[in-house]
Amino acid sequence: MIETIKTTKTRIHEVNWDKLEFGKIFSDHMVVMDYKDGQWQAPVIMPYGPIPINPSISALHYGQAIFEGLKAYRMEDGGVSVFRPKKNAERLNKSAARMCMPTVPVELFMECLTQLVSLDRDWIPKGEGESLYIRPHMFATDEFIGVRPSDTYKFVIFTCPVSRYYTKELRVKIETTYTRASKGGTGAAKAAGNYGAALFPTQVAKNAGFDQVLWTDSINHEYFEESGTMNIIFRTGQVLLTPTPSDSILDGITRDTILQVARDWGFLVEERKISVREIVDLMKEGKLHAAFGVGTAATITPIRVINYDGVDYDLGAFEEGIFAPKVSAHLSALKRGQIEDIHSWNYRID
Ligand SMILES: *Cc1c(COP(=O)(O)O)cnc(C)c1O
Repeated sequence: MIETIKTTKTRIHEVNWDKLEFGKIFSDHMVVMDYKDGQWQAPVIMPYGPIPINPSISALHYGQAIFEGLKAYRMEDGGVSVFRPKKNAERLNKSAARMCMPTVPVELFMECLTQLVSLDRDWIPKGEGESLYIRPHMFATDEFIGVRPSDTYKFVIFTCPVSRYYTKELRVKIETTYTRASKGGTGAAKAAGNYGAALFPTQVAKNAGFDQVLWTDSINHEYFEESGTMNIIFRTGQVLLTPTPSDSILDGITRDTILQVARDWGFLVEERKISVREIVDLMKEGKLHAAFGVGTAATITPIRVINYDGVDYDLGAFEEGIFAPKVSAHLSALKRGQIEDIHSWNYRID
């Protein structure tokens, strides 16, 4: 059992459950675990709140910081399940390796996660499309402003009750000026700095009337990479097209899940380089039937309009699609235990 210091004053009654804004409300507890002297110290569960840090810690100056994002769901039988959490533990460790940070043993990660979610289980909203978003993260804490990997770190997990993510149909622009990640860079790691760097191009796109950008490669802007903080999947007829994860593309767990469901349902999945030219040609011929962003936050975000070179291409209404709306409903039912979980994706905490 992890040492637990319980809050003496729960904040759960202050929550407006009808108006859960993504990422703004934090459950009662968090896990904090320190790394020093070459090893992880015993984790502690404590009330969510400020962590004292010094202004000289290297995470703040040089961005040695990584994170994960996953969700726990309230099941129909009253139980709790977390969706594919070991995948997140493994990916955290890949990010850690790229950023010269210590890895967290998967069993230890799972123990921290399980006990935290179990303690704050009353914070998991019960409504359709609602869940508890879980944010594990790690940052460098050496008080030293020389540029080198830190010797000390903090690993923290906190959680947020979240509602159905607004699946407004997006208007996106194919980005041909800025890039999110470059070949040989840190795009495949969930490293904090990647996101800070993407804010400006996204703001420029928003000012021009778009909701998001469709990132392309850093060399010639010839091939698709991702959309915002989601992977991208295109559909033409019974075929799904999606870029292969690379050192500049985050290997999304939602992407993997959706491609597996597609294969189970007899769709053809092509994971390869997808060129802008190919997609623009399909759009011109009216043969691009759908495009969607996929990631933990919203599962599937429909893309309604893709803009390239000043021209808007309208892909039609999401609900009329033959794949995305169905897979969205399917996964939502699966996570709540309403249909059979043939791939054992639900990790039950009972
Ligand atoms: C987290 C993330 C995704 C989606 O990954 P999931 O595991 O599906 O949540 C996609 N792209 C980027 C850049 C991300 O940070």
